[in-house]
Amino acid sequence: MQSVKITSVVAAPLFGASPKGGWSSEIKPEDSVHALIAVHTDAGVTGHGSVFSDGRLVQAAIDVLRPLFEGENALDPERVAEKLNQNSFWMGRGGTLTHAISGIDIALWDILGKVTAQPVGRLLGGIYRQRVQPYCSLLMQEPAPLADTLRAMHESGFRAFKIGWGPFGRALDTKLDEAIVRAAREAIGPGAKLFVDAGASDAHWPHGLKWALRTAEMLDDYDAGWFEEPLRPDAIDDYRELRRASPVPIAGGEVLTRRQTFLPWLARGALDIVQPDVTKVGGISEQRRIAWLADDFGVKYVGHGWNTAVGLAADLQLAAAMPLTDLVEFIGGSPYVDDITTEPPTLDPEGYLPIPMTPGLGVNLDRERLARYTPDPELLFSDERR
Ligand SMILES: [Mg+2]
Repeated sequence: MQSVKITSVVAAPLFGASPKGGWSSEIKPEDSVHALIAVHTDAGVTGHGSVFSDGRLVQAAIDVLRPLFEGENALDPERVAEKLNQNSFWMGRGGTLTHAISGIDIALWDILGKVTAQPVGRLLGGIYRQRVQPYCSLLMQEPAPLADTLRAMHESGFRAFKIGWGPFGRALDTKLDEAIVRAAREAIGPGAKLFVDAGASDAHWPHGLKWALRTAEMLDDYDAGWFEEPLRPDAIDDYRELRRASPVPIAGGEVLTRRQTFLPWLARGALDIVQPDVTKVGGISEQRRIAWLADDFGVKYVGHGWNTAVGLAADLQLAAAMPLTDLVEFIGGSPYVDDITTEPPTLDPEGYLPIPMTPGLGVNLDRERLARYTPDPELLFSDERR
Protein backbone atom coordinates (compact mmCIF):
# COMPACT_ATOMS: atom_id res chain seq x y z
CA MET A 1 0.00 0.00 0.00
CA GLN A 2 1.66 3.21 -1.16
CA SER A 3 -0.92 5.80 -0.26
CA VAL A 4 -3.80 6.26 2.16
CA LYS A 5 -5.48 9.59 1.67
CA ILE A 6 -6.63 11.81 4.52
CA THR A 7 -10.32 12.49 3.97
CA SER A 8 -11.05 14.49 7.14
CA VAL A 9 -9.70 15.53 10.51
CA VAL A 10 -12.09 16.17 13.40
CA ALA A 11 -11.73 17.27 17.01
CA ALA A 12 -13.86 16.18 19.97
CA PRO A 13 -13.43 18.52 22.95
CA LEU A 14 -13.61 16.84 26.37
CA PHE A 15 -15.85 18.48 28.98
CA GLY A 16 -17.43 17.78 32.31
CA ALA A 17 -14.67 15.99 34.21
CA SER A 18 -11.54 18.10 33.63
CA PRO A 19 -9.30 17.46 36.65
CA LYS A 20 -8.13 20.46 38.66
CA GLY A 21 -4.74 21.79 37.63
CA GLY A 22 -3.88 23.66 40.82
CA TRP A 23 -3.62 26.75 38.59
CA SER A 24 -4.10 30.31 39.85
CA SER A 25 -7.10 30.49 37.51
CA GLU A 26 -8.41 27.04 38.35
CA ILE A 27 -9.80 24.69 35.67
CA LYS A 28 -13.51 24.05 36.15
CA PRO A 29 -14.96 20.63 35.29
CA GLU A 30 -16.98 22.18 32.45
CA ASP A 31 -13.90 23.80 30.87
CA SER A 32 -12.51 22.19 27.75
CA VAL A 33 -8.74 21.97 28.11
CA HIS A 34 -8.24 18.73 26.17
CA ALA A 35 -9.49 17.51 22.81
CA LEU A 36 -9.28 14.20 21.03
CA ILE A 37 -8.51 14.14 17.32
CA ALA A 38 -9.49 11.65 14.65
CA VAL A 39 -7.87 11.49 11.22
CA HIS A 40 -10.10 9.60 8.80
CA THR A 41 -8.83 8.08 5.55
CA ASP A 42 -10.09 6.69 2.26
CA ALA A 43 -8.88 3.23 3.33
CA GLY A 44 -11.36 3.22 6.21
CA VAL A 45 -8.51 3.35 8.74
CA THR A 46 -8.87 6.02 11.43
CA GLY A 47 -6.08 7.28 13.68
CA HIS A 48 -6.51 9.03 17.03
CA GLY A 49 -4.57 11.83 18.63
CA SER A 50 -4.81 14.12 21.64
CA VAL A 51 -4.32 17.87 22.08
CA PHE A 52 -3.79 19.86 25.27
CA SER A 53 -5.73 23.04 24.42
CA ASP A 54 -9.23 24.43 24.53
CA GLY A 55 -11.33 22.36 22.10
CA ARG A 56 -12.67 25.49 20.39
CA LEU A 57 -9.15 26.52 19.42
CA VAL A 58 -8.37 23.02 18.18
CA GLN A 59 -11.46 23.02 15.96
CA ALA A 60 -10.52 26.43 14.56
CA ALA A 61 -6.96 25.26 13.90
CA ILE A 62 -8.23 22.24 11.95
CA ASP A 63 -10.37 24.54 9.77
CA VAL A 64 -7.35 26.73 9.05
CA LEU A 65 -5.04 23.78 8.32
CA ARG A 66 -7.54 21.84 6.15
CA PRO A 67 -6.16 22.91 2.72
CA LEU A 68 -2.73 21.66 3.82
CA PHE A 69 -3.76 18.17 5.01
CA GLU A 70 -6.75 17.29 2.83
CA GLY A 71 -5.84 14.55 0.35
CA GLU A 72 -2.38 14.11 1.90
CA ASN A 73 -0.82 10.68 2.36
CA ALA A 74 -1.57 9.53 5.91
CA LEU A 75 1.38 7.10 5.73
CA ASP A 76 3.87 10.01 5.88
CA PRO A 77 3.38 11.38 9.43
CA GLU A 78 6.64 13.28 9.78
CA ARG A 79 6.48 14.81 6.32
CA VAL A 80 2.83 15.86 6.65
CA ALA A 81 3.33 17.32 10.15
CA GLU A 82 6.37 19.24 8.92
CA LYS A 83 4.35 20.54 5.96
CA LEU A 84 1.80 21.89 8.45
CA ASN A 85 4.55 23.41 10.61
CA GLN A 86 6.41 25.00 7.71
CA ASN A 87 3.32 26.54 6.10
CA SER A 88 1.81 28.04 9.25
CA PHE A 89 4.87 30.08 10.31
CA TRP A 90 2.99 33.35 10.01
CA MET A 91 0.17 32.32 12.35
CA GLY A 92 2.07 32.23 15.63
CA ARG A 93 4.34 29.22 15.38
CA GLY A 94 4.66 27.28 18.60
CA GLY A 95 1.20 28.27 19.83
CA THR A 96 -2.19 26.61 19.70
CA LEU A 97 -1.72 25.74 16.04
CA THR A 98 1.34 23.67 16.99
CA HIS A 99 -0.73 22.01 19.75
CA ALA A 100 -3.34 21.04 17.15
CA ILE A 101 -0.68 19.76 14.73
CA SER A 102 0.54 17.55 17.62
CA GLY A 103 -2.80 15.74 17.71
CA ILE A 104 -2.85 15.28 13.94
CA ASP A 105 0.71 13.92 13.96
CA ILE A 106 -0.10 11.43 16.74
CA ALA A 107 -3.13 10.22 14.77
CA LEU A 108 -1.03 9.81 11.61
CA TRP A 109 1.48 7.60 13.46
CA ASP A 110 -1.50 5.58 14.74
CA ILE A 111 -2.66 5.10 11.13
CA LEU A 112 0.83 4.12 9.92
CA GLY A 113 0.99 1.52 12.68
CA LYS A 114 -2.44 0.14 11.87
CA VAL A 115 -1.74 -0.08 8.14
CA THR A 116 1.66 -1.75 8.62
CA ALA A 117 0.46 -3.89 11.57
CA GLN A 118 3.27 -2.62 13.79
CA PRO A 119 3.34 -0.80 17.14
CA VAL A 120 4.35 2.85 16.73
CA GLY A 121 7.42 2.27 18.92
CA ARG A 122 8.86 -0.12 16.34
CA LEU A 123 8.22 2.39 13.54
CA LEU A 124 10.12 4.98 15.61
CA GLY A 125 13.21 2.82 15.31
CA GLY A 126 12.84 -0.15 17.61
CA ILE A 127 11.55 -1.49 20.90
CA TYR A 128 13.82 -1.11 23.95
CA ARG A 129 11.16 -2.16 26.49
CA GLN A 130 7.64 -3.52 26.68
CA ARG A 131 6.70 -2.04 30.03
CA VAL A 132 7.50 1.18 31.87
CA GLN A 133 6.94 2.54 35.35
CA PRO A 134 4.18 5.16 35.53
CA TYR A 135 4.53 7.83 38.15
CA CYS A 136 1.20 8.80 39.62
CA SER A 137 0.87 12.57 39.29
CA LEU A 138 -1.22 14.23 41.99
CA LEU A 139 -2.17 17.77 42.85
CA MET A 140 -0.65 18.98 46.12
CA GLN A 141 -3.00 19.56 49.00
CA GLU A 142 -2.56 20.28 52.67
CA PRO A 143 -0.44 17.52 54.26
CA ALA A 144 -3.22 15.38 55.79
CA PRO A 145 -5.50 15.01 52.75
CA LEU A 146 -2.51 14.61 50.43
CA ALA A 147 -1.18 11.77 52.59
CA ASP A 148 -4.58 10.04 52.43
CA THR A 149 -4.63 10.31 48.62
CA LEU A 150 -1.06 9.04 48.31
CA ARG A 151 -1.74 6.06 50.58
CA ALA A 152 -4.78 5.14 48.45
CA MET A 153 -2.75 5.34 45.22
CA HIS A 154 0.10 3.33 46.82
CA GLU A 155 -2.50 0.76 47.83
CA SER A 156 -3.72 0.62 44.20
CA GLY A 157 -0.24 -0.40 43.05
CA PHE A 158 1.74 2.72 42.13
CA ARG A 159 5.35 2.83 43.34
CA ALA A 160 6.34 6.25 41.93
CA PHE A 161 4.60 9.55 42.60
CA LYS A 162 4.76 13.19 41.67
CA ILE A 163 3.14 15.89 43.75
CA GLY A 164 2.78 19.36 42.34
CA TRP A 165 1.15 22.76 42.08
CA GLY A 166 -1.58 23.65 44.62
CA PRO A 167 -0.29 25.45 47.73
CA PHE A 168 3.40 24.57 47.16
CA GLY A 169 5.28 27.86 46.78
CA ARG A 170 2.04 29.72 46.15
CA ALA A 171 1.08 29.98 49.83
CA LEU A 172 4.41 31.76 50.46
CA ASP A 173 4.99 29.46 53.43
CA THR A 174 8.21 27.41 53.31
CA LYS A 175 7.19 25.52 56.47
CA LEU A 176 4.02 24.37 54.71
CA ASP A 177 6.05 23.39 51.63
CA GLU A 178 8.27 21.16 53.77
CA ALA A 179 5.32 19.76 55.74
CA ILE A 180 3.66 18.72 52.47
CA VAL A 181 6.78 16.94 51.21
CA ARG A 182 7.42 15.27 54.60
CA ALA A 183 3.83 14.00 54.74
CA ALA A 184 4.14 12.68 51.19
CA ARG A 185 7.39 10.81 51.89
CA GLU A 186 5.95 9.31 55.08
CA ALA A 187 2.79 8.22 53.27
CA ILE A 188 4.57 6.35 50.45
CA GLY A 189 7.53 5.06 52.48
CA PRO A 190 11.26 5.13 51.72
CA GLY A 191 11.09 2.59 48.88
CA ALA A 192 8.83 4.58 46.55
CA LYS A 193 9.97 7.28 44.13
CA LEU A 194 8.88 10.84 44.88
CA PHE A 195 9.11 13.79 42.49
CA VAL A 196 8.10 17.38 43.25
CA ASP A 197 6.70 19.88 40.74
CA ALA A 198 6.51 23.55 41.73
CA GLY A 199 4.58 24.36 38.55
CA ALA A 200 6.31 27.72 38.08
CA SER A 201 4.81 28.09 34.60
CA ASP A 202 1.62 29.16 36.40
CA ALA A 203 0.57 32.82 36.17
CA HIS A 204 2.73 35.27 38.15
CA TRP A 205 4.99 32.70 39.84
CA PRO A 206 6.32 34.62 42.86
CA HIS A 207 9.76 33.02 43.44
CA GLY A 208 13.21 33.19 41.91
CA LEU A 209 16.55 31.41 41.96
CA LYS A 210 17.27 31.67 45.69
CA TRP A 211 13.91 30.20 46.70
CA ALA A 212 14.44 27.42 44.18
CA LEU A 213 17.90 26.62 45.54
CA ARG A 214 16.77 26.57 49.19
CA THR A 215 13.79 24.42 48.23
CA ALA A 216 15.98 22.01 46.25
CA GLU A 217 18.12 21.51 49.37
CA MET A 218 15.00 20.82 51.43
CA LEU A 219 13.76 18.32 48.82
CA ASP A 220 17.06 16.45 48.99
CA ASP A 221 16.32 15.70 52.67
CA TYR A 222 13.26 13.74 51.51
CA ASP A 223 15.05 11.93 48.69
CA ALA A 224 13.14 13.69 45.90
CA GLY A 225 14.03 12.22 42.50
CA TRP A 226 13.68 15.56 40.72
CA PHE A 227 12.52 19.15 41.20
CA GLU A 228 10.26 20.16 38.30
CA GLU A 229 9.51 23.65 36.98
CA PRO A 230 11.15 25.37 39.96
CA LEU A 231 11.54 28.62 37.99
CA ARG A 232 9.57 30.63 35.47
CA PRO A 233 9.56 28.85 32.13
CA ASP A 234 11.72 31.41 30.28
CA ALA A 235 14.42 31.80 32.97
CA ILE A 236 17.04 29.77 31.13
CA ASP A 237 20.07 31.36 32.84
CA ASP A 238 18.62 30.77 36.31
CA TYR A 239 17.86 27.17 35.32
CA ARG A 240 21.52 26.73 34.34
CA GLU A 241 22.72 28.06 37.71
CA LEU A 242 20.18 26.02 39.64
CA ARG A 243 21.11 22.83 37.81
CA ARG A 244 24.75 23.30 38.78
CA ALA A 245 24.04 24.05 42.45
CA SER A 246 21.03 21.81 43.19
CA PRO A 247 21.57 18.48 44.96
CA VAL A 248 18.47 17.08 43.19
CA PRO A 249 18.04 16.82 39.40
CA ILE A 250 16.20 19.72 37.74
CA ALA A 251 13.34 18.94 35.34
CA GLY A 252 11.26 21.10 32.98
CA GLY A 253 10.13 21.88 29.47
CA GLU A 254 6.42 21.01 29.48
CA VAL A 255 5.37 24.43 28.16
CA LEU A 256 8.01 24.61 25.43
CA THR A 257 6.94 23.72 21.90
CA ARG A 258 8.80 23.00 18.63
CA ARG A 259 12.11 21.14 18.61
CA GLN A 260 14.02 24.34 17.83
CA THR A 261 12.97 25.88 21.16
CA PHE A 262 14.55 22.99 23.08
CA LEU A 263 17.95 23.37 21.44
CA PRO A 264 19.31 26.20 23.66
CA TRP A 265 17.95 24.51 26.81
CA LEU A 266 19.88 21.35 25.95
CA ALA A 267 22.99 22.96 24.46
CA ARG A 268 23.38 25.38 27.38
CA GLY A 269 22.92 22.71 30.02
CA ALA A 270 19.77 24.12 31.67
CA LEU A 271 18.07 20.79 32.53
CA ASP A 272 18.87 17.35 33.93
CA ILE A 273 15.54 15.96 32.69
CA VAL A 274 13.54 17.29 29.74
CA GLN A 275 9.77 16.81 29.69
CA PRO A 276 8.23 17.77 26.35
CA ASP A 277 4.46 17.27 26.08
CA VAL A 278 3.63 15.20 22.99
CA THR A 279 0.14 16.77 22.81
CA LYS A 280 1.58 20.29 22.53
CA VAL A 281 5.14 20.12 21.26
CA GLY A 282 4.35 19.08 17.68
CA GLY A 283 3.46 15.42 18.15
CA ILE A 284 5.40 12.15 18.11
CA SER A 285 7.57 13.29 15.17
CA GLU A 286 8.79 16.33 17.09
CA GLN A 287 9.03 14.59 20.46
CA ARG A 288 11.16 11.76 19.06
CA ARG A 289 13.67 14.25 17.72
CA ILE A 290 13.77 16.20 21.02
CA ALA A 291 14.21 12.98 22.98
CA TRP A 292 17.17 11.90 20.83
CA LEU A 293 18.69 15.39 20.94
CA ALA A 294 18.45 15.25 24.74
CA ASP A 295 20.06 11.83 24.73
CA ASP A 296 22.97 13.19 22.71
CA PHE A 297 23.45 15.91 25.35
CA GLY A 298 23.25 13.39 28.21
CA VAL A 299 19.89 14.77 29.36
CA LYS A 300 17.17 12.34 30.37
CA TYR A 301 13.85 12.39 28.50
CA VAL A 302 10.55 11.73 30.31
CA GLY A 303 7.29 12.48 28.43
CA HIS A 304 4.52 14.73 29.72
CA GLY A 305 1.56 13.66 27.54
CA TRP A 306 -0.52 12.55 30.50
CA ASN A 307 -3.76 14.40 29.79
CA THR A 308 -5.80 11.67 28.04
CA ALA A 309 -5.51 7.93 27.42
CA VAL A 310 -4.39 8.77 23.86
CA GLY A 311 -1.65 11.14 25.08
CA LEU A 312 -0.51 8.43 27.49
CA ALA A 313 -0.53 5.87 24.65
CA ALA A 314 1.75 8.13 22.59
CA ASP A 315 4.10 8.53 25.58
CA LEU A 316 4.18 4.77 26.08
CA GLN A 317 5.22 4.17 22.46
CA LEU A 318 7.93 6.83 22.75
CA ALA A 319 9.10 5.26 26.02
CA ALA A 320 9.36 1.93 24.18
CA ALA A 321 11.57 3.50 21.53
CA MET A 322 14.08 5.43 23.69
CA PRO A 323 17.05 3.66 25.30
CA LEU A 324 16.92 5.25 28.77
CA THR A 325 13.29 6.31 29.36
CA ASP A 326 12.24 4.46 32.51
CA LEU A 327 9.21 6.54 33.56
CA VAL A 328 5.98 7.88 32.13
CA GLU A 329 3.63 10.44 33.67
CA PHE A 330 0.20 9.14 34.70
CA ILE A 331 -2.33 11.59 36.09
CA GLY A 332 -4.03 9.98 39.09
CA GLY A 333 -7.83 9.77 39.10
CA SER A 334 -8.64 11.36 35.71
CA PRO A 335 -11.59 9.87 33.80
CA TYR A 336 -10.02 11.17 30.56
CA VAL A 337 -7.28 8.57 31.13
CA ASP A 338 -9.11 5.84 33.07
CA ASP A 339 -12.57 5.96 31.48
CA ILE A 340 -12.48 6.53 27.70
CA THR A 341 -10.99 3.30 26.31
CA THR A 342 -12.24 -0.26 25.95
CA GLU A 343 -9.33 -1.49 28.10
CA PRO A 344 -8.36 1.07 30.72
CA PRO A 345 -4.65 1.14 31.64
CA THR A 346 -3.84 -1.53 34.24
CA LEU A 347 -0.74 -1.81 36.40
CA ASP A 348 1.18 -5.07 36.60
CA PRO A 349 2.05 -6.51 40.05
CA GLU A 350 5.24 -4.40 40.21
CA GLY A 351 3.42 -1.17 39.44
CA TYR A 352 4.45 -0.99 35.76
CA LEU A 353 2.30 -0.33 32.71
CA PRO A 354 2.57 -2.73 29.79
CA ILE A 355 3.33 -0.95 26.49
CA PRO A 356 0.91 -2.20 23.83
CA MET A 357 2.65 -4.17 21.07
CA THR A 358 -0.48 -4.19 18.93
CA PRO A 359 -0.73 -2.13 15.70
CA GLY A 360 -0.58 1.66 16.01
CA LEU A 361 -0.84 3.30 19.41
CA GLY A 362 -2.61 0.21 20.76
CA VAL A 363 -5.46 2.19 22.29
CA ASN A 364 -9.14 1.73 21.45
CA LEU A 365 -11.58 4.51 22.31
CA ASP A 366 -14.95 3.49 23.79
CA ARG A 367 -17.97 5.26 22.24
CA GLU A 368 -20.28 4.82 25.21
CA ARG A 369 -17.77 5.98 27.78
CA LEU A 370 -16.76 8.94 25.62
CA ALA A 371 -20.39 10.06 25.38
CA ARG A 372 -20.09 11.20 29.01
CA TYR A 373 -17.34 13.66 28.15
CA THR A 374 -17.92 14.90 24.60
CA PRO A 375 -21.17 15.82 22.84
CA ASP A 376 -20.56 13.91 19.60
CA PRO A 377 -18.22 10.92 20.07
CA GLU A 378 -19.31 9.41 16.75
CA LEU A 379 -17.16 12.02 14.99
CA LEU A 380 -14.14 10.07 16.21
CA PHE A 381 -15.25 6.81 14.60
CA SER A 382 -16.75 7.63 11.23
CA ASP A 383 -16.39 10.34 8.60
CA GLU A 384 -19.66 9.52 6.84
CA ARG A 385 -21.19 12.80 7.91
CA ARG A 386 -18.25 14.95 6.87
MG1 LIG B 1 4.74 19.72 35.53
